[in-house]
Amino acid sequence: MIKISGLNKKYGSKSVLSDINAEFSQGRIYGIIGENGAGKTTLFRCIAGLEKYEGEITSDLVPLKNHIGLLFTDPFFFSKITGEEYIRLLCNAHDKAIGDVSEKNIFDLPLSSYVSTYSTGMKKRLALLAVFLQDNSYLVLDEPFNGLDINGSIILSEILLKFKELNKTILLSSHIFSTLRDTCDEIMVLKDGTFTETFSRENFDRLETEIKHSAVGNKIAQLGLE
Ligand code: ADP
Repeated sequence: MIKISGLNKKYGSKSVLSDINAEFSQGRIYGIIGENGAGKTTLFRCIAGLEKYEGEITSDLVPLKNHIGLLFTDPFFFSKITGEEYIRLLCNAHDKAIGDVSEKNIFDLPLSSYVSTYSTGMKKRLALLAVFLQDNSYLVLDEPFNGLDINGSIILSEILLKFKELNKTILLSSHIFSTLRDTCDEIMVLKDGTFTETFSRENFDRLETEIKHSAVGNKIAQLGLE
């Protein structure tokens, strides 16, 4: 469980998150959606202990930051590091022994090559694999589906469902609605730094319709296509 109470975050005088209250339970997957700039990444950074904030973020496992597998939208890699070294570095940081990495190379990555030679999609797969192998109780994944091809997306969805079965708490953001529909128990809408609505599975259709309406509006009619 992760519990957020009265979370406020400012950058200078600019308020980015205001009065966030939420509880994330074990064995559930939560999707966080919102327009660019809504505050999703900042919220994830606060949860992971990477930002100072007002309010409280508590968890049943402490310290929270030692139990979180965090995936950044654009993961950082040292220039002279191989895929295998990156995985070992992250697993060592969380005291996780992983044995033979090649046996767990589910994304068929060239683990002995420098990460600097990887494509964007390969980097995303590597960062995901490292997070999976860290085997934390909480997963906070910022746009995990970004940059994955169809096979990668399917594998990721199945792994998330497996982690749910293993009673982990999972938070993720995605702008691809189908990926949220396939995985999430709840979808929470973040708007201008605060949660405005939460949708459970039986209301996902309504959410999708609302998103379509607000995104498309009369833009198609504007084109004047006959
Ligand atoms: P999202 O992930 O939903 O796109 P972000 O959390 O990245 O939103 O950003 C929320 C707001 O906070 C944006 O207006 C962004 O410009 C601002 N912001 C994010 N990081 C910083 C920072 N380090 N300094 C100042 N402003 C920031």
